[in-house]
Amino acid sequence: MAAEKQYPVPPETAEHALLTREEYDRMYRQSLDDPDTFWSEQAEQFITWFRKWDRVSNNDLTKGQIRWFEGGKLNVSYNCLDRHLETHGDRNAIIWEGDEPGNTRHITYRELHEEVCRLANVLKDRGVAKGDRVSIYMPMIPEAVVAMLACTRIGAVHSIVFGGFSPHALRDRIEDADCRTVITADQGLRSGKPVPLKENVEKAIDGLDSVHTVVTVRHTGNEVTWNPDRDIWYQESLAEASPTCEPEEMDAEDPLFILYTSGSTGKPKGVLHTTGGYLLQASMTFKYVFDYHDGEVYWCTADVGWVTGHSYIVYGPLSNAATSLVFEGVPTYPDAGRFWQVIDDHKVNIFYTAPTAIRSLMGQGEELVKKYSRKSLRILGTVGEPINPEAWEWYYRVVGDERCRIVDTWWQTETGAIMISALPGAIDLKPGSATLPFFGVEPELVDNEGNILDGATDGNLCIARAWPSMMRTIYGDHERFMNTYLTTYAGKYFTGDGARRDEDGYYWITGRVDDVLNVSGHRMGTAEIESALVLHDAVAEAAVVGYPHDLKGQGIYCYVTLVKGVEPNEGLHKELTDLVRKEIGPIAKPDVIQWAPGLPKTRSGKIMRRILRKVATNELDSLGDTSTLADPTVVDELITNRANQ
Ligand code: ATP
Ligand code: MG
Repeated sequence: MAAEKQYPVPPETAEHALLTREEYDRMYRQSLDDPDTFWSEQAEQFITWFRKWDRVSNNDLTKGQIRWFEGGKLNVSYNCLDRHLETHGDRNAIIWEGDEPGNTRHITYRELHEEVCRLANVLKDRGVAKGDRVSIYMPMIPEAVVAMLACTRIGAVHSIVFGGFSPHALRDRIEDADCRTVITADQGLRSGKPVPLKENVEKAIDGLDSVHTVVTVRHTGNEVTWNPDRDIWYQESLAEASPTCEPEEMDAEDPLFILYTSGSTGKPKGVLHTTGGYLLQASMTFKYVFDYHDGEVYWCTADVGWVTGHSYIVYGPLSNAATSLVFEGVPTYPDAGRFWQVIDDHKVNIFYTAPTAIRSLMGQGEELVKKYSRKSLRILGTVGEPINPEAWEWYYRVVGDERCRIVDTWWQTETGAIMISALPGAIDLKPGSATLPFFGVEPELVDNEGNILDGATDGNLCIARAWPSMMRTIYGDHERFMNTYLTTYAGKYFTGDGARRDEDGYYWITGRVDDVLNVSGHRMGTAEIESALVLHDAVAEAAVVGYPHDLKGQGIYCYVTLVKGVEPNEGLHKELTDLVRKEIGPIAKPDVIQWAPGLPKTRSGKIMRRILRKVATNELDSLGDTSTLADPTVVDELITNRANQ
């Protein structure tokens, strides 16, 4: 493999950062050697408790029992709002940037607090009580954040469904968690096009009599159908509601939210998170991973429909009294300079996005980036998929002007918070590696029999002990929780991801374990082969899967999307094959390269490799659940192209 580049922490960065390498090492050691002391100190520092806990931790992974801070009482909205009012009441909690450039709103902590209290009272008035589930199906507008916090204020459990999902997917999720209240908007807007949210809710709950209340935010002002027994307008009801509402005292282990995974490997799972441990780790990782300094403007481009939006648009930033930018639009509207324009307009200091966005913008050239100064930027983050070194370098060099630290954050809906990531002032960077574990996180690599592998090696990525923001169960299906995560390697949490650990102890996520190929006895991650393919100028994106091969055990099947304007040809085929051989070695030589105008992706932009595997093996009648695909027609194209190949 090509030599790894390294980017050491510059001394001036270390000097101003919250944590240095020495501090990281010391805290990390303490977090593993004396976890209860460590976590109780952190819990005192990061959270305001109404009552202190009786016991820090009480975990038994073999039984799927995970409990943190039992007996402790707190309220999440109190921690995100009330306690900041005295010192930061006039600070912007949210800067909102709408789909249309120039359409912005600023909402202070005081204003957000008042609005949350009003909505909390409206919900109470409609009979929503502690423990009830509330479905939130919203565009990226400040009211989505209000809805989340209002639920937490009264102890209701929110279940957010991404606004891009179909009525069918929404219905499944409403039914699965038995949500009787839905909060939505008349319409959303994405790249100038309306998304009929209220209409979708109507379809989703048609015949579902258990849903007694639908609260609708008037956003675009279009006509909507109305059922006076069930429907209320957000604006009107809030205007009449009282602006004060006592926060409910919640136990640390009371449920906080349910969130369905993005579905890139199968039927989405209703991941349940609880109150104390989740908030602590969301808050703490936000501060340390992004090296958040008081007063900075922070922007995470995720949607609140994904866990990244939960932990790093809402709970992490707001519990730290940060200013969190909420963006309704898309990276390419009105043009591919949109991100950089927003960064300049609002003087964004910390920017957090996904490799899929970086790769798509990379394809548009550097001019649109260079048009903007981006001089406010200090830290750049990425999450969601392995970032190939090529995209990492572009992010570092072009977006960050070789001045910003990059944090590649590995974590999952299930983990609740960032688990493996660099810390800006403490950890040297290697492009493509998520680097080192966060406090309290004990990664372990195991072979298929569960033997623990030491030193530099690759294997199945497990976490050897429970951490505070770990999911507690799959809602309504503890057995599936056990079987999915805790029984494969008894006593450990199995992530489903494969990883490599290098001589410096750095972790390199190689993709889903299902995506790790075994070619003639050599294990390799699909991510590595993809990284090699995208090094070629003509390649916009690549996805690699394995398929049964008589001689090699598994063969390498590559789907390649070319950049706009490039036509596939034999020469290119050979160049790509040679490139992979050169970068990784002859063993990784592709067996099949299929040109793919588009790749099947989830709504959060992740490639759904299980569909690509089915197409590769021609098992077209067992494609499985495709309801979370952003554009199902891509699959038909792949099938046609395969046939013509
Ligand atoms: P499902 O579990 O339903 O298949 P999903 O795993 O895509 O969906 P998420 O919880 O949103 O749902 O994503 C977590 C996964 O995303 C991780 O398990 C990992 O495969 C990938 N991932 C996230 N961040 C990174 C990262 N920084 N580097 C590599 N992979 C990442
Ligand atoms: Mg997953």
